[in-house]
Amino acid sequence: MKKPKERSIGIIERYQKFLPVTKKTLECIISLNEGNTPLILSEALSKHIGLNVRIYYKFEGLNPTGSFKDRGMTFAVTKAIEEGRKAVMCASTGNTSASAAAYAARAGLKCFVLVPEGNVAKGKLSQAFRHGAQVVMVKGNFDEALELVKEITAKYPIQLVNSLNPYRIEGQKTASFEICDALGDAPDYHVIPVGNAGNITAYWKGYKEYFKAQKSSQLPKMLGFQAAGAAPIVHGHPIKAPETVATAIRIGNPASWKQAEQARDESNGLIDMVTDDEIIAAYRFLAEHDGVFCEPASAASVAGLIKLAQKKYFKEETTIVCTLTGHGLKDPDLALSFDDSIVSAEPKIEEIIKIMDMET
Ligand SMILES: *Cc1c(COP(=O)(O)O)cnc(C)c1O
Repeated sequence: MKKPKERSIGIIERYQKFLPVTKKTLECIISLNEGNTPLILSEALSKHIGLNVRIYYKFEGLNPTGSFKDRGMTFAVTKAIEEGRKAVMCASTGNTSASAAAYAARAGLKCFVLVPEGNVAKGKLSQAFRHGAQVVMVKGNFDEALELVKEITAKYPIQLVNSLNPYRIEGQKTASFEICDALGDAPDYHVIPVGNAGNITAYWKGYKEYFKAQKSSQLPKMLGFQAAGAAPIVHGHPIKAPETVATAIRIGNPASWKQAEQARDESNGLIDMVTDDEIIAAYRFLAEHDGVFCEPASAASVAGLIKLAQKKYFKEETTIVCTLTGHGLKDPDLALSFDDSIVSAEPKIEEIIKIMDMET
């Protein structure tokens, strides 16, 4: 038998040529084998929108903690170790805290997270707790929590691991590399949910770097989607009290606002918004017709694609990639909140058969 690899291989080792790594970084790697997520073709969606296009889902819910945040977190935590830090801290709508807590646990670092009380999905919260982070519920929203984290990490020797940390963006850009590697080129369009706007920034950076290195022959148009109740970039001003069922993008004042606009403008793309109803419809479509269970915020990309298709935005024969940012299991309460979900019965065959609608 061949000797198995002694270490986990994640995005840092795989894409080290495109990342700001030193020899020391490579000796400090904290990885959970993140990245290398599948690119899933959706025939159901192209049929649904009645257009002859190739639509792929980059399913980031299949990362180790169930969201794309792991790509950035492996690098941010690795760098924290390289720089001799003992603790990390973040504000989070949930997934950043789950990811930070897991990588910090693996690295033996303390982890502090501030989350908006009452607005974090149960799956995410349970991860942060189980991985041993000190979780503080802040009676405020994400934007307020992030301001606090910025102040605290400026004062104390604690590494900030929100996407303001440049290594987060560096790690996250590897998703673009994987898409180009899988397709043999960049897609024509890339559709992505926008919350704090780190991810759209990271994807665009990745696409540009791969293009420059002649690993792809074109650049995609970046199509970002915010939730209608949390759409500061679309409206052109911060939103004081953002509201949406898609809690991962419930953000009123994105940290990477300027960079997101830059990605939009440089790529000739757009940033638009989708309503909660459109998000839920897309979330259900993905689960019921594609067999892909993503979280509501992730479905904002598909909701946006459907909205643009209805406006005849896409040409035939194009390739479109949608990032599905996180896994549906993150938010079980929402998943079970639809009235058609649950039926109960006595343990009797007649009753069950009746429910199954199999009567002759
Ligand atoms: C973090 C997150 C987003 C938003 O990403 P940004 O980089 O903040 O724009 C979207 N969906 C999910 C599931 C997330 O965890």
